[in-house]
Amino acid sequence: MNRVYNFAPGPSMLPEAALRRAAEEMLSYNGSGMSVMEMSHRSKAYQDIFDETEATLRALMHIPDSYSVLFLQGGATGQFAAIPLNLLSEGGSADYVDSGNFAHGALVEAKKYGDVRCVASSREENYIRIPELDPATFNPKADYFYITTNNTIFGTRYPELPQTGDVPLVADMSSNILSEVYDITRFGVAYAGAQKNIGPAGLTIVIVRKDLLGRARTACPKVFDWTVMTDKGSMLNTPPTFAIYMAGLCMKWLKDQGGVEAIEKVNIEKAKLLYDVLDDSKFYRAAVLPRYRSRMNVTFTTPSPDQDAAFVKAAAAEGMVSLKGHRLVGGIRASIYNAMPVEGVKKLAEFMKKFEVENK
Ligand SMILES: *Cc1c(COP(=O)(O)O)cnc(C)c1O
Repeated sequence: MNRVYNFAPGPSMLPEAALRRAAEEMLSYNGSGMSVMEMSHRSKAYQDIFDETEATLRALMHIPDSYSVLFLQGGATGQFAAIPLNLLSEGGSADYVDSGNFAHGALVEAKKYGDVRCVASSREENYIRIPELDPATFNPKADYFYITTNNTIFGTRYPELPQTGDVPLVADMSSNILSEVYDITRFGVAYAGAQKNIGPAGLTIVIVRKDLLGRARTACPKVFDWTVMTDKGSMLNTPPTFAIYMAGLCMKWLKDQGGVEAIEKVNIEKAKLLYDVLDDSKFYRAAVLPRYRSRMNVTFTTPSPDQDAAFVKAAAAEGMVSLKGHRLVGGIRASIYNAMPVEGVKKLAEFMKKFEVENK
């Protein structure tokens, strides 16, 4: 069986070891005579899977007990609403940085619930960089300050986190969680849809500092209420059982790779392989300024949209798929999350050089 190198932005490639393990356990998990999909979420066998997944995530990200870890549904997009519903007080306000399409979506959604201010935006520049941030413009009384650590569509990443003082930093980490070391204690809330760098779709992980619980509005749906979900161990209702199990297998794989500290080095190396080709080339153009370049989503163009399309097609013929850029930016995007092996990135780098020679 031939597996392709899948450069999709999400859902994206998963570690082969995790897929194999799931396949082995598909018909009968640990002698239970049933798959994890068929198991009651209230069973001891499932609770063990759940607890181990949470423990592995806590170990990988060094999450202290002062933070609650939630396994929810509704995607990152659900959290766009859940964040103001849990944190924005009546008459309070929040600061947002508009660094990409998902950041913009979060801002627009939050505006439904109160006084939400955009402190900086790179929208006018089609998000080719993270906007400059001036702490003097931040509201020191804001309920929270919102950022998107990695902008999946445009391929940008915060080179450093903003200093927000006592204002809790809330971060959408959907496309770079577990890819590099973050000091979790810098954040009030960090959250991510699972389908980019955690596991399969259907699961959303929310990590919230416990002192921020208890602030949800009365109108907050209980499935989105972080306090209720903390009290219920994420099982107010049926959680996405199989997605949590798969995420756990992917996290175990990451632990076997040496954890986040080790994979960060690999991720830097992988990204450099592609950016070096782009910087040495007069044919390709990297979309993003070097300082803001993502290590997870590498965006670039050839001299023409026709050649972009030819590139995507020719790469697919060689087993490198899903390289088409997002419709908002066009061009080419190589998403190289944790599960993308170095060999896949090397193969793409070689292909890029060959395509340039043949097409310039
Ligand atoms: C994919 C993505 C989202 C949207 O995630 P869903 O789980 O589909 O709602 C939000 N933010 C970022 C940074 C993303 O990459």
